[in-house]
Parts: sequence; structure tokens; C-alpha cells
Amino acid sequence: MTAPAPLLTTARTAVAEAMGVARVIQGRIKESPGLLKSDRSPVTVADFAVQALICLRLRAVLGELLLVGEESAGLLRSEPGAAVREAVVSAVRIVWPEITPDEVLAAIDSGAHDATATAYWTLDPIDGTKGFLRGGQYAISLAFIEDAQVTVGVMGCPNLSPDFDRSFADPDPVGLLYYASRGNGTWVSSPHGGAESTAVKCGVSEGPIRVCESIEAGHSKQDTSARVIAALGGAGTPARLDSQCKYAVVARGQADAYLRLPTRADYVENIWDHAAGMLVAAEAGAKITDIDGRPLDFSCGKGLVRNRGVVCASRRFHGQIIEAIQAIRL
Ligand code: AMP
Ligand code: MG
Repeated sequence: MTAPAPLLTTARTAVAEAMGVARVIQGRIKESPGLLKSDRSPVTVADFAVQALICLRLRAVLGELLLVGEESAGLLRSEPGAAVREAVVSAVRIVWPEITPDEVLAAIDSGAHDATATAYWTLDPIDGTKGFLRGGQYAISLAFIEDAQVTVGVMGCPNLSPDFDRSFADPDPVGLLYYASRGNGTWVSSPHGGAESTAVKCGVSEGPIRVCESIEAGHSKQDTSARVIAALGGAGTPARLDSQCKYAVVARGQADAYLRLPTRADYVENIWDHAAGMLVAAEAGAKITDIDGRPLDFSCGKGLVRNRGVVCASRRFHGQIIEAIQAIRL
């Protein structure tokens, strides 16, 4: 196994740097051009700029490597992508003032590995693009996978507050950087460094179950979550927020469970939507499986093709949730 320490340190630097640029872009999102991908999902200047920044930083420190990134520069090379391309280059120049447009596009496209190697990085540059667009929660999510195990996970949560009472819809001015490496626990720090990192533990809650889920009803079956909660004797609506920040919310004990219940039989989850978040939650003590109780299987390339949905929960509730889902026969 590759020694994780330099990988973790470099990943933290890369994500923290990209968080600053993403924050600048989100602050001007109303003037910022955007595009739609072939699946009609939105993509912003930040998705491309963050992928370029992270590829550039990882390679500057670690040399050649394999990266499975969500984005590719194809759209930016087309005529309708010209305005976005220009804005992406300006954003990347915040960190790399001398970089050329061709170098930016090449950096984005260097994240085109197909997840067939034994060891590679995976990146979701802006997970929760819809949250990013509505000024809500999003995550910059970077993980290293080796022999089908996630060994390093770094998740930048630029709008997540350390204050559990702050609404998820009210973005924090600084944000948090969560990170984990296999066997070494989960830690959180400010993206600016400085103060010491703090250990993150999911803890043992005694009250009724508290759940979080996606804001997007198309991404998780919210009516079924309500039935699961009722079956466990809980009440109320789950906390809703975009992105893998939900894994951090469970990792830090703010919720007992993150439910991602399939809305379609044919949907396959992407590795970059789960790798970093899963390790952050697992190393904090949570249990993560799919809705059938199977561990997330990172051995099948870009998709979690052997899994259906996700249940991330404290050990107190995980088994009960799987039983409730089985009883509902999702
Ligand atoms: P969330 O912010 O939790 O709603 O999740 C955002 C992620 O949902 C995006 O990165 C997409 O890859 C993913 N996604 C898109 N369509 C679906 C779907 N039908 N079911 C589950 N996830 C989806
Ligand atoms: Mg995503």
C-alpha cells in the first residue's frame, strides 16, 4: 500500500486551495456563465476550475498520477462554451497566474482515467452543483482508492458551519475541511489551517433518530425516508442539504443517519459522489452500506454497480434502518 501521509497532506492542500477559489466564484454566481451537460444537469465555472486546480496541485507535488474526475473539458472546447472557458481560465489564474488556456483544458482532461487501475484518485470538484447554484451546501470531494479500498478522503465543505444550530441554508463564511485516512480516524480543520485539527467522532446519541437526506427529491426517495423514520419510532422531517456534506453531518454526530434511497432502479451511484464522504464518516465511527446492507464496492470502475442507494448511520441505528427498509421492500 502507498504510504498515505504525503497523499493526505497533498490532498488537504489541494482541496483547501480550491475551496478559496470556489468561494470567490460562488460569491459572483449571478454574473457567472454556466452550461448544461448532455444529461441536462448544470455545470458551473467552479466545477471546471476546481478540477483543473486539484489536478495541477496533485501533479505539482506528487508527479504523474491517475485521476477519475467528474468533469471533462469537451464542452469548454466548443463554441457555446467560450464564455465559460474564459471565466474558468481567470479563476485558475488566481492560483496559477501564468497558466495558458490550453494548459487549463489539459489539466481538466487529465482527470479522465477510467477507474480500472489498482490505485487512482477520484474527484468530484463541486459535489452538489445545485446547492452551489442556490448558495447552499456543496463539497469538494477528493479520495484515493487502492485495491478497491478508499485509503484517503478529503472533503472541503466551504459553507458548512461548526455551529450545529446554524441553518444549512445559511452559508458559513469560512467552512470546514474534513479529512481521513484509513485506520487513522477523521479530523476537521479550518481550510486556512492555523488552529490544530480536531478529531471527529460520531458519538452515541440517546434521543429519537435524527436523519439527513438530499434536498433533491429525484436523488433520494423522501417519502420512504419518512416511513423508515416512523418505523424506528422517530418523528419530523429529515434535515435536508445538498452534497456529501451529509456524510460529515453524520460523522460529527449532528445527525444519526444519512439516507439515500433509490428513486430509480437503473441509477448507478458514481464513486466520486461517495468515496471521500464515506471514509470521513467510517473513520469517525459510522457504518456505511447500501440499502441491502452490503458495503460500498469500489472494485467495479466508475460506478457502484453492485450497490443500491446508501445508508450511513451510527452503529446504534444502522441495523434497525436496514431492517426497516427490508420490511418496506424498496
Ligand atoms: P445530492 O446533493 O445528495 O442531492 O447529490 C448530488 C449528486 O446526485 C450528484 O452529484 C449526482 O451525481 C447525483 N444524482 C444524479 N441523479 C441521481 C439520481 N437519480 N439518484 C441519485 N443520485 C443522483
Ligand atoms: Mg456529485
